[in-house]
Parts: sequence; structure tokens; C-alpha cells
Amino acid sequence: MKTMNCKQLGGACDKEFHANTFEEIAEMSKQHGMEMFRLNDEAHLKAMNDMQELMKKPEAMQEWFESKKVEFSALPDD
Ligand SMILES: [Zn+2]
Repeated sequence: MKTMNCKQLGGACDKEFHANTFEEIAEMSKQHGMEMFRLNDEAHLKAMNDMQELMKKPEAMQEWFESKKVEFSALPDD
């Protein structure tokens, strides 16, 4: 398993996620982001806004996703 935190995944806190694949960890961070959105957490709302800006440019979003995927594969297994 590898570990990445919320901030590393475009979020706003140090909460850590553990998963075997990048897709899995991306989904966990998404679920956490939605939970924080529901709780109206200001820092996460801002981080989500930035992500939404990024999503307006599919190639920029793709690039971000790919770079995070590379970062994830470079991490040591726990
Ligand atoms: Zn967070």
C-alpha cells in the first residue's frame, strides 16, 4: 500500500489515504473532499474551487492527473 495525503491530492489538509492503486486513492480523496464540502470546510471549498478551474481545461486536468499518478508510483510501499 502507498500513502498520500489530502494536500498532495489537491485537497487542503494532512489526512492520509492508503491504497494500492492511484485510482483507488483518487477515489478516497474524492469521497473525503465531498464529505468536507458537505461540512462546509472553507479550506477544502477553496481547494475544490481551484480543482474546478483546472477541470475547465481538460488537458491541464489530464496533465495534473498524470503527474500525480507518477508521484504515486514513485512512492515506497508501506
Ligand atoms: Zn482534506
